[in-house]
Amino acid sequence: MVKIGVLALQGAVREHIKSIEASGAQAVVVKHAEDLAGIDGLILPGGESTTMRRLIDLYGMMEPLRAYAKAGHPMFGTCAGLILLAESLVGYDQSHIGVMDVTVERNSFGRQVDSFEAHLSIKGVAEDFPAVFIRAPHITEVGSKTDILCEHNGRIVMAQQGQYLGCSFHPELTDDHRITAYFVHQVENFINQTA
Ligand code: GLN
Repeated sequence: MVKIGVLALQGAVREHIKSIEASGAQAVVVKHAEDLAGIDGLILPGGESTTMRRLIDLYGMMEPLRAYAKAGHPMFGTCAGLILLAESLVGYDQSHIGVMDVTVERNSFGRQVDSFEAHLSIKGVAEDFPAVFIRAPHITEVGSKTDILCEHNGRIVMAQQGQYLGCSFHPELTDDHRITAYFVHQVENFINQTA
């Protein structure tokens, strides 16, 4: 059974754990650098990216996370997690983990619609995925090796670049586990390729 970690410094951790288990994988809570040893993939949850970054620094997790990413392990960032993965952020000089070839803009759906739900058609995953957006970012640009998996109202809300997957919304907040299962499959394939 593959082991999927969830970065558990802040944000929607419990829901991701539930979704990983519902997808037939083992979930591991990741709080310290040593927790990264032995996990096959990592989910960076939604929450608030500035707070999460502060906690990552406080817990001495930035270098271990970058090293984990650079070692080529699969990573899936949801909402604030996507912001952490992005190589560039609109309006900021620096990225956070900064490994996925996308540019992300924060809070891009406007204040008047802080949160909303939409049914999305996601390439290779689902035709009608119930997606919950909460102060969601979106992807403004993708690199040549990044595959766009979903757009909503002309905005890119999910993409994949090799082992890195990111989405603007919260796939863990409903009982529809198809996106988590998709990531679990990616991790399984990745292990088989590298074994
Ligand atoms: N707006 C948040 C940020 O910029 C992300 C929102 C979320 O993860 N639900 O970090």
